[in-house]
Amino acid sequence: MFARFDVSNLTQLQLDGATCVVCGDEDGAMIPVGAVEGGQVFAHRPCVEERPAPKSVLVVGDTSTSAALDDLTAFASDVADRLGFPVLVAIGRDYRPEDFEGVVLADGWATSYDSAVLGCEAMLADVYCVWSEEVYRHPIIATCGLCGDVDPEAAPVAVGGGWSVSLCPACAPAATRPATLEVVA
Ligand SMILES: [Zn+2]
Ligand SMILES: [Zn+2]
Repeated sequence: MFARFDVSNLTQLQLDGATCVVCGDEDGAMIPVGAVEGGQVFAHRPCVEERPAPKSVLVVGDTSTSAALDDLTAFASDVADRLGFPVLVAIGRDYRPEDFEGVVLADGWATSYDSAVLGCEAMLADVYCVWSEEVYRHPIIATCGLCGDVDPEAAPVAVGGGWSVSLCPACAPAATRPATLEVVA
């Protein structure tokens, strides 16, 4: 039920139980999440509750030059903004299409070897494949994927090689917060 946290990286205030071991904030109700060096440590419930990782969409396209990768990454933001899924940009072809909600084949996907192989694997795996022009038939999503508010400023946030779902400015910082942290005993 609980996310894990890195005990090697805690501040003295966190070790003393004064601040949340995940976000470092001292405000708000916290729950005990374990003992470190004999002392009880605490975290906000939302900070530690395991959120099921939403399935992502894999964007497959030409990444053979940095300009091509920039174009593909910009396109991937549109995918997240219009399809409403977190998006990962495929680099190389070491992915299992079945692990994704769907695969978007960006313009030029068949022109580089890695993306052509990966795109074909996705089609053979019977994964839901979307062509780039279909992406633009979906309207831009204005509902924040976290709090559910309708906000015209809601937009995907760049996270580790891809994009979050569209988030309102207030929720945008949460996109970069890791869902789970590794316990380092
Ligand atoms: Zn917290
Ligand atoms: Zn929000």
